Amino acid sequence: MPNPPWNVDVVVVGAGLAGLAAARELTQQGHDVLVLEGRDRVGGRSFSGSVAGLPIDRGGSFVGPTQDAVLKLISELGLPTVPTYHDGKNVIHWRGTARAYSGTIPRLSLVGLLDIGRLQWQFERISRTVPIAAPWHAKRARQLDGVSLGQWLGMVRATASSRDLMAIMTRVTWGCEPDDVSMLHAARYVRAAGGLNRLLDTENGAQQDLIPGGTQQIADRAAAELGDRVVLDARVRRIERHGSGVTVTCDQGQAEAGFVIVAIPPAHRAGIEFNPPLPPEYTELARHWPQGRLTKAYAAYETPFWRAQGFSGQALLDNGPVFITFDVSPHADGPGVLLGFVDPRAFDSLPADQRRRDALRCFASLYGEEALNPLDYTDFRWGTEEFAPGGPTAAVPPGSWTKYGKVLRQAVGPIHWAGTETADEWTGYFDGAVRSGQRAAAEVSALL
Ligand SMILES: Cc1cc2nc3c(=O)[nH]c(=O)nc-3n(C[C@H](O)[C@H](O)[C@H](O)COP(=O)(O)OP(=O)(O)OC[C@H]3O[C@@H](n4cnc5c(N)ncnc54)[C@H](O)[C@@H]3O)c2cc1C
Repeated sequence: MPNPPWNVDVVVVGAGLAGLAAARELTQQGHDVLVLEGRDRVGGRSFSGSVAGLPIDRGGSFVGPTQDAVLKLISELGLPTVPTYHDGKNVIHWRGTARAYSGTIPRLSLVGLLDIGRLQWQFERISRTVPIAAPWHAKRARQLDGVSLGQWLGMVRATASSRDLMAIMTRVTWGCEPDDVSMLHAARYVRAAGGLNRLLDTENGAQQDLIPGGTQQIADRAAAELGDRVVLDARVRRIERHGSGVTVTCDQGQAEAGFVIVAIPPAHRAGIEFNPPLPPEYTELARHWPQGRLTKAYAAYETPFWRAQGFSGQALLDNGPVFITFDVSPHADGPGVLLGFVDPRAFDSLPADQRRRDALRCFASLYGEEALNPLDYTDFRWGTEEFAPGGPTAAVPPGSWTKYGKVLRQAVGPIHWAGTETADEWTGYFDGAVRSGQRAAAEVSALL
C-alpha cells in the first residue's frame, strides 16, 4: 500500500476479528481494501501474552461448538484447537467453605439446586420468545427492556444463592452486575448463543476449546494475508460522507473510499467525528451501549498440582475478587497455568503487588497453599485500557434495545457497521465478530 492519501474501494475501521473478517472477504472478492487500526497491534479484544514464558490470552480464549464462522476461519488459517482441560472435580467456594462438585451447576443444597433449575427454565422460556434480529418486536419487549436482569431475579423471587450465581454469570458474560444489564438484552444474548447450557458449559459449550499459543494468532494470520493493507497506529478520528463516498481521516493520513465499514464496539463509535453528523439516534446508541469491564489473572506453577488432587481447575467463588477459574496449562506434562476471571470493581485500582496477593489468595482458597507460590503471575484489566477500553462485550442497560436497537447496524449511506455487538449469532463472542464482518462485507459487496 503506497503512502497516504489512499484511494480504495472500502476502508475498514478496526483490526479486530470483525474488521479483519470483513477485509479478508472483500479482498478475496477482488476489492481494494484498507484496514485502519488505532492500536499498534491487530486482534482487538483478542490479545495474547505470556506468563513464565507460557502463552496466555489476555482477552478472549475459548471457542466451542456451533461457533461455525470462527471455527472455519481458524481452520482456513491453519490453526489447531485443543480441548480445555476439565477432567476431575470442580470446586465451589461458597459462604466460606470450599466444596467439590461435577457438571455446570454446583450442588449448593437441594433447595438451591431446585431454585436455579426453576430460574433457568423461566429464563430460557422468555429467551425463546425474543426475536434475535429484532428484539424490540418481542411480545413483551417493553416490559423486558424496562427492567434489569437483577430486577427480574427479584420479581421471580430468586434465592440469595441463585442471585449470586447469576451475578457470577453476568460478570463473566457482560463484565457488569445483574442490575446493569437489560433483561431483554440478557434474554436475546443467551438465545444468540443457543441457550444457557451452551453459553456456560465447557464440554459441548462455549468454553470447550482453546487455541494453543493464543487466539491472537487468528488476527495475526488474517492480517499477514492482507499485508500492507493493514495500517497500525492509525486511529480514525473523522469520517466525512460526500457524493462519491467517504473521506476517512486517521493519525496516519487520509483515505478516499466508496464505503467504510466501522468494525468497533458501538460505544467506541463516539470517538469518531462524523460529518455530516449521524442522525441523533446513532449518537444516542453509542452513549447507551456501554462496554462492560472484566479482568483476567494468570498464575503459572511448576506443575498443575491441582490435577493430582483430582481437581479440574474449574471453580466458582462467591467472595472474590476472582470468581471463576480454569486450568489453561498449555501441555499435559509441563507447568500448570491457572486462569482467574476477576471482578474489576475493587481490584483494578489496587497496586500490582496487592492485586497479585488477592488473586493468589483466591487460588489458594480453592487448591491449597501451594497456589501462593507461583513461578510467575500477571493480570490484564480491560476496563483500564486508555484506547478502546472495556470488554468482554457491551453491557446493554434497560431501555437501549427498544429505543435505539433498530439502528445498531443500519447503514448510514456509505457507512456500514460491524463488530461482535452487531451479530445475531454468538453476539459478544469471536464467532459473532467474524459473522458481523462477513455480513457487513456482503452488504458492501452487493453495492460495489
Ligand atoms: C477478558 C475477555 C474475555 C473474553 N473471552 C472470550 C472467549 O473466551 N471467547 C470468545 O469468543 N470471546 C471472548 N471475548 C470476546 C471477544 O474477545 C470479542 O467478542 C471479539 O474479540 C470482538 O471482536 P471485534 O472485532 O468485534 O471487536 P474488537 O476486538 O474490539 O476490535 C475492534 C478494533 O477496533 C480498534 N478501534 C477502535 N476504535 C478505533 C478507531 N477510532 N480507529 C481505529 N481503530 C479503532 C480497536 O483497537 C480494536 O482493535 C472476551 C473478551 C474479553 C475482553
